[in-house]
Amino acid sequence: MKENKKIEIIKAYDETKDNVENIKASNMCGCYTCLNIFEASKVKAYVDNSAVCPYCGEQSLIPDVDIELTDDFLLLVNKFWI
Ligand SMILES: [Zn+2]
Repeated sequence: MKENKKIEIIKAYDETKDNVENIKASNMCGCYTCLNIFEASKVKAYVDNSAVCPYCGEQSLIPDVDIELTDDFLLLVNKFWI
């Protein structure tokens, strides 16, 4: 794996934590557990300042504020962390 891809994956993981502000500033967000990409306005629950996925209940939502969300990228994050 290319080093810059790895950095992006680690950054994406970091952005799933303490991300209330970023989720609220996003149009879309993506979950690296269930791989859904959906409107950030669908997020209704936060635990410890981290957004909870409305589909799978995990705190693994990546905001699109400074990460381009694609199915391929979510799958990479999923394979790296799960
Ligand atoms: Zn999910």
